[in-house]
Amino acid sequence: MITVENITKSYFGSKKALDNVSVKIENGGITGLLGPNGAGKSTLMKILCGYLLPDKGKASVCGFDIAAQPIKVRENIGYLPEHNPLYLDLYVREYLSFAAGIYLPKHEVKTAVENVLEMVNFAGEAKKKAGALSKGYRQRLGLAAALVHNPKVLILDEPASGLDPNQLEEIRSLLRELGKQKTILLSTHIMQEVEVLCDRIIILNEGVIAADKYTDELDEKLEIIFHSLTK
Ligand code: ADP
Repeated sequence: MITVENITKSYFGSKKALDNVSVKIENGGITGLLGPNGAGKSTLMKILCGYLLPDKGKASVCGFDIAAQPIKVRENIGYLPEHNPLYLDLYVREYLSFAAGIYLPKHEVKTAVENVLEMVNFAGEAKKKAGALSKGYRQRLGLAAALVHNPKVLILDEPASGLDPNQLEEIRSLLRELGKQKTILLSTHIMQEVEVLCDRIIILNEGVIAADKYTDELDEKLEIIFHSLTK
């Protein structure tokens, strides 16, 4: 479970990127964090992953406090940052071994890498360098790196951005499968993305939560709210 309580964050005294945000996300399923650019989505994700500390408020992941138990939090989270930074000169297995080695004892790394390659259907592409992969496979590699230590929670910052329609569908079906076993929080600025993928949609705008709905109770109002924010 992810809990966020009254989180506020400003960068260098500028306007608040997050303003007193509170939310609870139960275990399992896919929650979409939707909002226009600059809404605060990445900031919230970075705080949950322990990359940034909030100015005020607190948050926990799987019962571990982000400020007091950051290592425990990271063990439980797989994070795919925006723009999927990869070491392009490393071969796929080298890169995943590096990512796995951060969390796992040496003797578990090889098995974890092979397992995750199978999980994300890497097939023949696993022999390439990261820099030689298509955009869709790079995204899979980023996901694999986030998954390799088998975390309970996945935090994915714009995992589908820049993909062509085929690659989009492949990543979506992979995420749907993963959402059956893990708690996924993903961000996007595309309404349709959350409608097809998510069980719950949280709309963030100018650092505050503008709407929060489960997709089985979606109504036109949510679309109207979102489109009015992106105009
Ligand atoms: P989103 O992910 O929804 O696009 P962000 O969390 O990246 O939103 O940004 C929220 C606000 O914080 C924006 O106004 C953005 O300009 C600002 N911001 C984000 N990162 C930084 C940073 N490193 N330094 C200064 N301002 C930042």
